[in-house]
Amino acid sequence: MDTTTLIKKHHTQIREQVDVCVIGAGHAGCEAALACARMGLETVIFTVSVDSIALMPCNPNIGGSSKGHLVRELDALGGEMGKNIDKTFIQSKMLNASKGPAVHSLRAQADKAAYSAEMRRVLENQEHLSIKQAEVCEILTEDRKDDRSDTLASRQITGVRIATGGIYLCRAVIICTGTYLKARCLCGESITYTGPNGLQAANQLSSSLSELGISLRRFKTGTPARMDGRTLDYSKMEEQKGDEEIVPFSFSTDPDSIQKEQVSCYLTYTNEETHEIIRENLDRSPIYAGVIEGTGPRYCPSIEDKVVRFAEKERHQVFIEPEGLFTNEMYVGGMSSSLPEDVQLAMYRTVPGLEHCKIVKNAYAIEYDCISARELYPSLEFKKISGLFAAGQFNGSSGYEEAAAQGLIAGINASRLLLGKEPLILSRSESYIGVLIDDLVTKDNREPYRMMTSRAEYRLLLRQDNADLRLRKYGYQVGLVSKEDYEKVLKKEELIRQEMERLHTVIVGAAAKTGAFLESLGSEPLKTGCSLAELICRPELTYDLVAPLDPERKDLPRAVREQVNIQIKYAGYISRQNKQVEQFSKLEGKKIPADLDYDAVDSLRLEARQKLKEFRPISIGQASRISGVTPADISMLLVHLEKISGKV
Ligand SMILES: Cc1cc2nc3c(=O)[nH]c(=O)nc-3n(C[C@H](O)[C@H](O)[C@H](O)COP(=O)(O)OP(=O)(O)OC[C@H]3O[C@@H](n4cnc5c(N)ncnc54)[C@H](O)[C@@H]3O)c2cc1C
Repeated sequence: MDTTTLIKKHHTQIREQVDVCVIGAGHAGCEAALACARMGLETVIFTVSVDSIALMPCNPNIGGSSKGHLVRELDALGGEMGKNIDKTFIQSKMLNASKGPAVHSLRAQADKAAYSAEMRRVLENQEHLSIKQAEVCEILTEDRKDDRSDTLASRQITGVRIATGGIYLCRAVIICTGTYLKARCLCGESITYTGPNGLQAANQLSSSLSELGISLRRFKTGTPARMDGRTLDYSKMEEQKGDEEIVPFSFSTDPDSIQKEQVSCYLTYTNEETHEIIRENLDRSPIYAGVIEGTGPRYCPSIEDKVVRFAEKERHQVFIEPEGLFTNEMYVGGMSSSLPEDVQLAMYRTVPGLEHCKIVKNAYAIEYDCISARELYPSLEFKKISGLFAAGQFNGSSGYEEAAAQGLIAGINASRLLLGKEPLILSRSESYIGVLIDDLVTKDNREPYRMMTSRAEYRLLLRQDNADLRLRKYGYQVGLVSKEDYEKVLKKEELIRQEMERLHTVIVGAAAKTGAFLESLGSEPLKTGCSLAELICRPELTYDLVAPLDPERKDLPRAVREQVNIQIKYAGYISRQNKQVEQFSKLEGKKIPADLDYDAVDSLRLEARQKLKEFRPISIGQASRISGVTPADISMLLVHLEKISGKV
């Protein structure tokens, strides 16, 4: 009897019943799945390869400017990335430490293999979570039956089908497919239809999404070559060491437990010879030959783009970064490319220290399907399909940290939907995650969106050092932060408040001894007595530096001292931003019913009416940020909302 007859005879389709299906085990999927399972939902996470869980297909680091803020916020909310990098980093550095606290940003070099293995270990040991290596090829839905009033969706989720035929029935699905949907990789004239690192692409799900009325677009990103570190001459580069005192990403990590020996990175530069080789071969670049359809990230340009767009620059920085302790492979940061491999070798070998380099992995560009996140509510749920959520690169963002932050929020909100609770929507005045998601779902992003401090209008309040004070309460409310950890923050807040109060009451006299001490710190002696708080405001002084003038001072934890110092020194700026936030919150607090009839709003301009009907903003604040909606339109809308609420 032949096998097909045998299978036919015994053919029974696998049908599993779970609460949530997460498609993708990248940085978004891991956070989403862990959040759902930790909130008690039976969750299954799919990936095309379990060996690529939390894969870092590009830069070997977590954090950096504004991205460090996202990781700290994610950790404060109960996410995993911060803990994972604290266990697997090989170098750590606080960027912009010489500048103001708003731009201080932690960045850690990761051992990529260890990072992925540790995240896999966490997933494999998480209750309510199972991992399935399979390609999801269809999203299953039916006509909507629930009585929700906060969505206009016509369909609701019932499950997913995998390529091997199995059906997973569920009530929520979170799409975190990253750079895999209909992926193709380009290196000069060579095009391969794979995902990153030669992994299998996911080619079937896109058509299922299109059938559900979800519009897809093509984005692209690129990565540099990886070199055999033994073939590089580091004596021709500037060594970049980590910080002596290592600061953890996670508020749950004991700083003393992570002080260790670190590896170095190296800085070198391109030169005119490099640029000449690139200019001579632009016609062979898939970007400039028009082969690449997808739109690339403006703020993560390829070396070709840099040479063309910044032609006046004589040199570009190149950071040589170790991929891990397990390999000699070195990442050539700042030189991502899709030029042919012969051109790559020639251009890399013009860079000081790389004259004899051997390429282990060619640089390449990858194109993939993704959505415009304007299809989503700020909860990251699709407007068209109840119970369908999305996060990460699939939403049009770029970066591990941006993906992880969205994954956590999508996981929290899919769970809260199934638990019959309101979604967690963070505002742009309280978090970078709020800025990220609001920008993604409100603005017309035509290229991969990367977070930057300049995107956050209230960045002095949204510092990486106070993410726990801002967000721990939400992590506790949704059930991802323990009572113990929450109480630790309440205690920290109380210690800060008490110490701030005390410093305003402790008066320092203008004694000669005090004057001499101040002069030793390069500060003017006092003419009359003043409070310690006033003293700390002097630019050259800090809370720690004036300790000898403060005999009653208690030995407070480093994190409390840091907060006291910042909140005293920047008190004026902070209170000014708080006033701006008060104004901002007024409009944010004005909710708009999901089914508002915009045709009934008098004297709304045509463009605004069309945009508002398409967008369906959830608040006046969000409506005011939609391009094409003017302050005059907002006033009309406010009058209309007053009218329908019977207040006028
Ligand atoms: C070549 C390259 C260069 C990059 N360059 C940069 C850069 O310069 N700067 C930057 O910030 N970021 C860059 N990135 C992006 C960065 O890697 C991503 O932002 C990040 O990995 C996104 O995380 P994610 O969770 O959204 O998706 P990913 O990490 O891509 O994970 C997607 C997951 O989905 C799974 N999957 C996909 N489809 C299916 C399916 N149908 N069924 C089952 N599983 C599925 C995959 O197996 C994988 O586990 C680059 C990525 C690549 C590949």
